[in-house]
Amino acid sequence: MNPFRSWSLAQRYGMSVASVALTTLALIQLPSLHQANIALLYLLVVLISATTIGLGPAMLASLLAFLGFNFFFVEPLHTFTVADSQDVVRLLTFLAVAIIASSLAGRARDQADTAQRSATELATLYGLSQTISAEVSTDRILHVVAQTTAHLLNVPTCAVLLYDDGRLTERARSGEPPPEPSRQVDTFLRIGPRVLGVLRVTQRALDDPLTKAEQGQLEMIASQVVLALERARLTEEANQARTLAEAERMKGGLLGSVSHDLRTPLAVIKGAVTNLLDDSVDWDSAARRDLLNAINDQSDCLNRLVGNLLEMSRIDAGAEMPARSSQDIGELVADVVNRMRSRLAAHPVTINIPADLPAVQVSYTQIDQVLTNLLENAVKYTPEGTPIMIAAGVERDSVWIEVCDHGPGIPAGLSTRIFEKFVRVTGPERHADGMGLGLAICKGIIELHRGRIWAENLPAGGARFIFTLPLYAPANGAAVRTAIRQMQAESI
Ligand code: ADP
Repeated sequence: MNPFRSWSLAQRYGMSVASVALTTLALIQLPSLHQANIALLYLLVVLISATTIGLGPAMLASLLAFLGFNFFFVEPLHTFTVADSQDVVRLLTFLAVAIIASSLAGRARDQADTAQRSATELATLYGLSQTISAEVSTDRILHVVAQTTAHLLNVPTCAVLLYDDGRLTERARSGEPPPEPSRQVDTFLRIGPRVLGVLRVTQRALDDPLTKAEQGQLEMIASQVVLALERARLTEEANQARTLAEAERMKGGLLGSVSHDLRTPLAVIKGAVTNLLDDSVDWDSAARRDLLNAINDQSDCLNRLVGNLLEMSRIDAGAEMPARSSQDIGELVADVVNRMRSRLAAHPVTINIPADLPAVQVSYTQIDQVLTNLLENAVKYTPEGTPIMIAAGVERDSVWIEVCDHGPGIPAGLSTRIFEKFVRVTGPERHADGMGLGLAICKGIIELHRGRIWAENLPAGGARFIFTLPLYAPANGAAVRTAIRQMQAESI
């Protein structure tokens, strides 16, 4: 690495004058030195200048050395006239050798410098392209571009501006603008006829414009930025298309399941009502009761379905914590089991809830819905006659409630995914209808209550769904606000 590379031209010429002057002073101190040796020492200084401070200053050093040699060491001394014709030849030969040697050495040095600069620039540009292609965030890409450009061109600032709604907006910047007046150079970021923005650099000084090579580098960086922006745009479009396709798929799936799930209970209700209205048949009271029970059950089923759909859209819309009141979980479970009695008729149900279980602050209807969905699944996915157990207890600062069954259990690796919307697991063991919303709704409701819900398989077979509810639930925001408003109104 050449330490004089960062020197200005004036400094380099100054250096060449100083080195010849110092050499002359030193040579004057040594009067016994032969003329040939003096010429060689001058030549040495010229060569050193050529290899360190460049071609121009080395030429000046050659000329000065020639004049110094003539003035101080060639007879008659201290004049530029030359008495001996041999000396004229010696002097001219010295000048020629000095100029040729310095021009050769200077050129070699300039070439080495250029090669080194190109290698550094190439490495920086390569690093930039690597970073750009590895980065996915547009902001991060633009930031790296601004930094690298400022560093590569050694300019005080570099900014990347992009068109946003027809307005040019600065998206990334490196460095602060210099206090003195400066000139900015814009390189357009174009793709075909479309201009995406501008790569703007500030010149080092008013009288130090960017070189052709530097402008070429700016063009090269601009083309990389355009590629990165295009890639980011295409990725964004692909993501949007994927999201749209997914939404379409979900919409299709939802419509399909809703129409199927609505139609089945409606068909049963319609059939039962048609039978009851048929005057040609004299229904005995037991048959009449069966038909009415079927209508009752299927209406519950419809009600549950519509309730689930409404709840899901409420949760999706970012529902707030529901209004809560102190509830006895034992009573709540008994109510749900009682309401679902005909659905649960084919399963022995055991309830194991301690009488002294502390009350919890919950929304009655929502926890009812969670239990209903879990029990509904236990009925749907387990063979008739297998038992269903409901238990509850306290652990640390939460109440836990579980629903266990003796069905096929949860397939390995899916215990988390089944809580996602529209995720269903079907197979020969679980052929029941459904929309894949029941557990997602349970999760949404329990999380609104600041609790947790999860599923696991029982060692003896069957699934266990557990949810927790905090014993000291955080205050209801709406209720607190109402109370504050009331207090404020009272104090006026
Ligand atoms: P759906 O019942 O409409 O499919 P859910 O969200 O309620 O939707 O359930 C998601 C999936 O979890 C179901 O498709 C089913 O495969 C599985 N699952 C739920 N409960 C049980 C259970 N008690 N036993 C076995 N698998 C269950």
